[in-house]
Amino acid sequence: HISINKALGSISEYDIVISRNFSGLSAKIADIGLAGKKVCIICDANIKNFYIHEVKKSLSGASCKVYTHIIQPGEKNKIFASVEKIYKTLVYNNFERSDFIAALGGGVTGDISGFAAATYMRGIRFIQLPTTLLSMVDSSIGGKTGVDFLSFKNLIGAFHMPALVYTNIETLNTLDRRNFLSGMGEVIKHALIKSNRYYDFIENNVDNIIKKDFETLLNLVYISNTIKKSIVEKDPDEKSCRAFLNLGHTIGHALERESVITASDETALLHGECVGLGCISALYLSNLYSLRLNENSHSRHLLDIARLKRILESFFLPIKFKGIDINDILTSCLKDKKNSEGRVGFVLLKNIGSPFLCHDISYDEMKGAIETIY
Ligand code: NAD
Ligand code: ZN
Repeated sequence: HISINKALGSISEYDIVISRNFSGLSAKIADIGLAGKKVCIICDANIKNFYIHEVKKSLSGASCKVYTHIIQPGEKNKIFASVEKIYKTLVYNNFERSDFIAALGGGVTGDISGFAAATYMRGIRFIQLPTTLLSMVDSSIGGKTGVDFLSFKNLIGAFHMPALVYTNIETLNTLDRRNFLSGMGEVIKHALIKSNRYYDFIENNVDNIIKKDFETLLNLVYISNTIKKSIVEKDPDEKSCRAFLNLGHTIGHALERESVITASDETALLHGECVGLGCISALYLSNLYSLRLNENSHSRHLLDIARLKRILESFFLPIKFKGIDINDILTSCLKDKKNSEGRVGFVLLKNIGSPFLCHDISYDEMKGAIETIY
């Protein structure tokens, strides 16, 4: 049970509850003043057969009047058209400003639902019920919502904090292995930006994580949530340190975008896989930058890229990509949201746990960073 304070927006605090079922949800709904309201559960077509019944029961237990809205799964449906359909469900069922949305699913569902909640009637409340490792450790927290536009990742969006994040870790049991392990991309990112000890923990618990051992996953979700909380509390609307959470995302987002365009649904790279690849490139650039700054110094410290690759591979995450043109990735990086005055922004590391923002990477260096994962 973690509380987030000083968050942005009209709802200034929210709780993250980590549990092994949905039975505590009704009491939390009552706690946050949503009992008796209308709620629209939004989930994708894959989830609806698994958990909707339990969640409906819990929400009805808090005297909520429950509606459901099913979205089409996958990154390619994280588009404005999906949001419009949600607005229609809300309008047809007379949702008012005091009613709320429950996002049940992974990061795609959370981002779309949160954006619908941020914009319907200038903002209604929403709760996050994450069911993928990636959404439990990262996307459900911090209030970034949005959709892709013209294939650019998360180009249209809003900061809108959830009223509650309620994680039922047992839902991971039905998640397929590839989507589950994709979440490790964000977990490894958390360790790289914040904690050497967490990095060791991940490396020492590969087997327990892969076999979805409950206690290990509980620790993992808790530590990642604590790291994300510490960052988003300090900087909710990303004016400074929150940007560190974008480690691996400059090249990662470009890869994800190009992959969604060029590959089939089954072969397209997943978000977490792209973040892992992007982290390899970020470490490569960090070392290059450190060498450039300290050309004649003996004190320069290089990061262990081989170790990162070993860890990624132990979770069956890719350390190379194929089938996408390097030039397309470069072009895509040039349009990234983190760019400033035409220069591409990268989160780099001085050490594990010491990130910094760098706009001083040349085109050739960037190309080299992509070639290391090609
Ligand atoms: P996802 O939402 O597409 O879910 C992955 C797949 O697993 C889907 O097919 C889904 O139907 C299925 N699924 C989900 N839970 C399941 C379960 N318990 N059992 C069986 N199947 C299940 O993908 P994701 O990896 O959760 O999220 C990726 C998205 O998150 C990307 O769009 C990324 O940009 C976004 N993201 C957002 C933030 C943020 O701060 N808002 C942070 C990180 C990532
Ligand atoms: Zn991410």
